[in-house]
Amino acid sequence: MQNLINPHIRQLTPYQSARKIGGNGTIWLNANEYPISPNELLNVLTLDNLNRYPEPQPTSIINAYANYAKVNANQVLITRGGDEGIELIIRTFCQNDDCILYCPPTYGMYKVSADTLNIQSKIVPLTNEFGLNLNDIEKNLEKVKVIFICSPNNPTGNLLKREDIISLLTMTKDKAMVVVDEAYIDFCFEQSLANELSNFDNLIIIRTLSKAFALASIRCGFVLANEWVIQSLQKVIAPYPIPTPTALIADIALSDDGIKQMSDKVAITLDNKLWLENELKALPIVKKCYASVANFILVEFKDGQAVFDYLWEKGIIARNQHTALNLTNCIRISIGTMDENKALITALKDM
Ligand SMILES: *Cc1c(COP(=O)(O)O)cnc(C)c1O
Repeated sequence: MQNLINPHIRQLTPYQSARKIGGNGTIWLNANEYPISPNELLNVLTLDNLNRYPEPQPTSIINAYANYAKVNANQVLITRGGDEGIELIIRTFCQNDDCILYCPPTYGMYKVSADTLNIQSKIVPLTNEFGLNLNDIEKNLEKVKVIFICSPNNPTGNLLKREDIISLLTMTKDKAMVVVDEAYIDFCFEQSLANELSNFDNLIIIRTLSKAFALASIRCGFVLANEWVIQSLQKVIAPYPIPTPTALIADIALSDDGIKQMSDKVAITLDNKLWLENELKALPIVKKCYASVANFILVEFKDGQAVFDYLWEKGIIARNQHTALNLTNCIRISIGTMDENKALITALKDM
């Protein structure tokens, strides 16, 4: 019977999400989440009409997010997390021999999504400074319909140069869509490419409430793009993608007060990151702390695997990057609460 399964699916290995890896931890620093749940939201939730199908694209959320992102309402699609946006874009633009292109070390889901859809991936690594290699991208554009770039990049933590992204958009005009994954842009909001949507028809931006908004569990993300793209994605997305509880919480998170609370969380996270970075840099087992504009730090240790295993034994779960391209001995550490960060540093000092 297993032969009934599509061959390209049979050969896949399931995505190793952070939540699957490391079930016994007590300190979770492996998924770039905000470390505290906004439980105050529970008090204001009034669930009714659960018997009815939800609004497919709740107008209140569309308007609130458009307002936050400073784009038009017709340039916004609500998705089940940023990950659904990635898959929808590939399903909408790619078929048969079409390819996606991505630039490792970067987020793993571009390839995973393409693999599940039987779409080939082309790989053009980032430069040594984790920048775009525009020359090599240009040489590899044949059959490429969608290019995924990530800025701030996960797991390296840096922004891609704005002028490089603009060059890429210009180079691929009328040839390929450029998806800029801005999952971490709320931590450096003025760097967003959203204001380029009016200049580039081939620009698509991915956003999420999973990181700075501290709402990874509700599965809510956004695609920002020009209206013709949004309308095409609408044809592909499921009829009722946004569950009513998710919509209610997203409404609150995107209210003026919700945005203010998110900004406070960003400020706290950036403060804690500075503290953690300084402590890490002072440790003899650390070779290098990469500069990060996001809510995590990529750290190169002298022996990354030993550090990862040691922390694991202590219940501190980080994200090992040893198999990522050019990231031997590197571990990605999410910024936790101050108590969690201190526990991490204490553990590392004892190693
Ligand atoms: C976390 C993340 C996402 C999306 O996460 P969702 O929870 O599906 O919204 C997208 N891209 C990158 C780079 C991420 O780190």
